[in-house]
Amino acid sequence: MKTELKNWIDNVIKEDQITKYQDDESLDFINDENIEQKISANAGVDKSRIRDIISKSLDIQTLSPDETSALLNVKDPELWDEMENAAGQIKRKVYDNRIVTFAPLYLSTTCVNRCAYCGLRSDNNVIHRGVLTLEQVREETEILAGKIGHKRLIVVYGEHPESDTDYMAKTLETIYSVKVKTRNGEGTIRRVNVNGAPLSIENFKKMHEIGIGTYQIFQETYHRETYRRVHPQNTIKGNYRWRLYAMHRALDAGIDDVGIGALFGLYDWRFEVMGLLYHAIELEKRFGIGPHTISFPRLEPAENTPFIQNSSYRVNDEDMRKIITVLRLAVPYTGMILTARENAKMRKELIPLGITQTDASSKIGLGAYNDQNEKNQVGKRQQFILGDTRSLDEVVRELAEMGYITSFCTAGYRCGRTGKCIMDLLRSGAEGRFCKLNAVITFREWLDDFASSATKEVGERVIESEIKEIKETMPKVFETFFSQYQKTLKGERDLYF
Ligand code: SAM
Ligand code: SF4
Repeated sequence: MKTELKNWIDNVIKEDQITKYQDDESLDFINDENIEQKISANAGVDKSRIRDIISKSLDIQTLSPDETSALLNVKDPELWDEMENAAGQIKRKVYDNRIVTFAPLYLSTTCVNRCAYCGLRSDNNVIHRGVLTLEQVREETEILAGKIGHKRLIVVYGEHPESDTDYMAKTLETIYSVKVKTRNGEGTIRRVNVNGAPLSIENFKKMHEIGIGTYQIFQETYHRETYRRVHPQNTIKGNYRWRLYAMHRALDAGIDDVGIGALFGLYDWRFEVMGLLYHAIELEKRFGIGPHTISFPRLEPAENTPFIQNSSYRVNDEDMRKIITVLRLAVPYTGMILTARENAKMRKELIPLGITQTDASSKIGLGAYNDQNEKNQVGKRQQFILGDTRSLDEVVRELAEMGYITSFCTAGYRCGRTGKCIMDLLRSGAEGRFCKLNAVITFREWLDDFASSATKEVGERVIESEIKEIKETMPKVFETFFSQYQKTLKGERDLYF
């Protein structure tokens, strides 16, 4: 390895930015033995106790580790039905019938780490790699914002000096600066969430200043031994704790919205659900803010990555339902992200269990949105293989047919409804009021600027019923709302409450 690269790698981790969050140097908020013990101690809890736990979730209260492990151990199919029903109810109570959509945008695929499950690991020689220039970032954004109609992106980076914090900052600035003329208005990206390697507090501060949306990173596995096995120890990612305290550093740096996740399929799914819960509880306790979102990607096949087929912990469809249901019940206020890793049929089945966000028209190859030749988008250009490559238009139409309104709203973050403020609003149900109004206005924009005629037809029915509901349930704000709605119809853009 070149000395320069080695020096860069050696200087990423700041030990004092790990130890400052540990109450006791040898202890973290994740205690493997304790998690295993909770799972085995809470088996066979009786029906009435399980029903009490479900009611606590319905009151939008975070469950305790004992309560969550009791749910994870349920065997009775009738109780699972009740839990699934409750999960859907919680979603409606906190987030109504809104689903937020976004697209992933891969900006760099060079990486110094060697995660056993990832197509982008540095020793995978078959992968096409690169770092987008700012001009290419602009071109990709123009398609996403101007042709497809996304307002929200999650940008993804490998960990490498070529995609360091300065590069991240410049790419965010570039994305926010893009404006494209659309059918009736203007297309822009209004919220950029980031999925990139854990940073130091100083670097998180730089990202915060640029105007990052959610900072998202997955612990992959909370189970230490598995973590060690899949992340070689002489790599940056091999440091479990640097990653475990990434959200602490982000929150300390002023980034209010953080997204946690685990890659399901590396270790026992029940353990990972508990890990996510302990992470949420730790953030709530220390910062007064739980995770803005939780992600639960399943391991997908990747080019030249035999580890995946050999993993004995891969999660089947039935257990995937259970993961989502228990997470929805355990952390009722949080956003829950389902990605296009899942195929179209699975997504349709899983969304009613409490999903709040999903991606669409996703491409994960470098420069893929601007690539005219679909055939180029093969495994060698991607981190893993996607399960659902339907267009945003198709996904919006299906959601509308299922009774959901796709929200393109990004107002919360731009008018300070983030962090603790948004958590309190979500728990009380008040956030729903702003969000409903903004969902209708942004959906109107999208239908007029981007929808096909088939999608517009179904979308109009959704809008009509939403407007009726606003009139009936929010008479005081209806007039103001309706005037903004009329302005949007005439082509004004980006109006929000
Ligand atoms: N490089 C950064 C990191 O590792 O945190 C951020 C980007 S990484 C490309 C995004 C996420 O993709 C990882 O956190 C991991 O959970 C997920 N991932 C990696 N390989 C995968 C696979 N084979 N199937 C599904 N998800 C995968
Ligand atoms: Fe690199 Fe992230 Fe892939 Fe690991 S998961 S090899 S850190 S891109």
